[in-house]
Amino acid sequence: MAEKDCGFAPLVFRLHGGAPLVVREVLLERGWEEYDEDEQEQGDWNLYWRSSGFRNSDFKNILPWQRLNHHLKMTHITRKDYLARHLRRMKSAFGAALYDFSPAAFILPNEYTKFLGVYTKNRTTDGGRSCYWICKPVHLSRGRGIYLFKDIKDLVYDSSLIIQRYISNPLLISGYKFDLRIYVCVKSFCPLVIYVHQEGLVRFATEKYTLASLDNLYSHLTNTSINKFGLCYAMDKERVGRGCKWTMSKFRSFLHKQDVNELLLWHRISNIITLTLLAAVPCNPSNPNCLELLGFDILIDSSYKPWLLEVNHSPALSLDCPADVTVKKGLINDIIDLMNYRMMDGFRQKEDIRKRYTRSGRWCLKPKIPLLPKTLHATPSSSTSSSSQDTVLCCSVNDCARNNSRYASRPVHPNSKSTMCSGHEKAPQKLEKMNVEVGSDDLKLTTLNSTRQSHRNTPSSAFKLPSLHKHKPKSPTVPWNRRTQDRDIPPCRVGDFILTFPFNEATWKASQEQVDVKAIVNEVRKLTKRLGSSFNERKRTMADSSQSCDAVRDKFEFLLWGPKDPPLLSECYSSNAETK
Ligand code: ADP
Repeated sequence: MAEKDCGFAPLVFRLHGGAPLVVREVLLERGWEEYDEDEQEQGDWNLYWRSSGFRNSDFKNILPWQRLNHHLKMTHITRKDYLARHLRRMKSAFGAALYDFSPAAFILPNEYTKFLGVYTKNRTTDGGRSCYWICKPVHLSRGRGIYLFKDIKDLVYDSSLIIQRYISNPLLISGYKFDLRIYVCVKSFCPLVIYVHQEGLVRFATEKYTLASLDNLYSHLTNTSINKFGLCYAMDKERVGRGCKWTMSKFRSFLHKQDVNELLLWHRISNIITLTLLAAVPCNPSNPNCLELLGFDILIDSSYKPWLLEVNHSPALSLDCPADVTVKKGLINDIIDLMNYRMMDGFRQKEDIRKRYTRSGRWCLKPKIPLLPKTLHATPSSSTSSSSQDTVLCCSVNDCARNNSRYASRPVHPNSKSTMCSGHEKAPQKLEKMNVEVGSDDLKLTTLNSTRQSHRNTPSSAFKLPSLHKHKPKSPTVPWNRRTQDRDIPPCRVGDFILTFPFNEATWKASQEQVDVKAIVNEVRKLTKRLGSSFNERKRTMADSSQSCDAVRDKFEFLLWGPKDPPLLSECYSSNAETK
């Protein structure tokens, strides 16, 4: 029987012109189908992927089973001048000590006088020896229009640009400059949920770094779009190799061999990401059907201090070299997993479902069908035979969905017990029952757990949008723990995406409903202090004995790049405290 006959259809993706090919490739591999505008209706897709932003109407008209790959107002941190402005605002609100990770920047033409003041002061204090500047047009990307200068007479501009202090002492590998492209997923803004991908890219300049020639872009810029045209691109460069990219794993193993404390570095990077995204929180309305993949460009200087250069709205996903293939295919697979598609999203019974929705400001669901039969709310032991049938059905759906997180809508054999619908004419009725759970994170939990069910007995809560996370979660009633079964707490790892925010119960609470930026910043501050002292402790312990060094080290092998199932930061503190 055709899947569509029972209302359960393959997941469908829609790509806007210019969307990366790797997205199509990965989705087809996962069994998705591509949206056909001529054949299908507006509501027939599950994922709409665009490289550019969406229109307001796209956000307004989104249906419960649909996801968009952008949040509404990301330009607040992805446009160079806006980012500079927002970080300045955060710096003055929360202190320069915390927000010291972005090079001083001036937006021209408006801030020319301000820049001139700083430039002149700098010239008089150290003769201008150590101060270099980099100019970047605010609207452009991929290194276009960028140039460096030391003397103000070389500053020319005819459009809006930012002048940033040039980090002139970058960490070098065999004389080559590099920066890190870190992939970050903002799963939601309210609650704020941030994942960082373990496997990013390291992007090299292809000519050796020298301040003697500021106009050699192959020496100063690390953009692939520039370096792939360099003469040395294909050459086998000392240590760096051919091309201009490494995977993050290769870089980590390089750091490891150099005996660098990479964990402290990763922690600092993670802080930069959180603190930067906090700047965007007030501008971004919550929309559980959206998710954002950002590319953070981080430069490490010779003292291992990471600097934020910029945040990319649609990080390049082209596959130019083997490192790209390794990193980007995994990344897209993981991002699809993070989008949390379930079997229910394959039910695009347009009219049937749409009828049950009314719009009030945003999509909200109002039941026009009766609530679930009481028996469905009962515990399995008290079920009647019909309810237990339903329960079996729901469990099967759930099990199936869990087993198929990567292949959520793969066909289910029609004769199998776990088949969701047995015939076309029965579909609406079954769907009706299951539709109660459209949007629920876990069908099994909500059908079998009677205590958690009680709040569903009111009409207003009987139907919910399918949220990537529940919209208004209760405070966790269980301790903040990676082993928790509480569905409100986002999983600490999805593929190679590691949850970096929230990182403890306090930050989780502070990021609900109205995100309490001040409280979160305080937690980040505390975390930094505690980690700092823990690292000092670790150093001391290392000096004391190599055996205990291993014990302490184990507790910090998790920050971003740890074991398969990393514990949460707070767990590490408590276990650290216990061992002291
Ligand atoms: P674009 O959006 O055009 O790529 P970026 O801000 O990412 O602009 O800058 C391009 C490259 O220039 C970076 O990848 C980095 O190599 C270099 N760069 C940018 N800003 C600085 C800076 N302040 N200090 C040192 N290098 C920088």
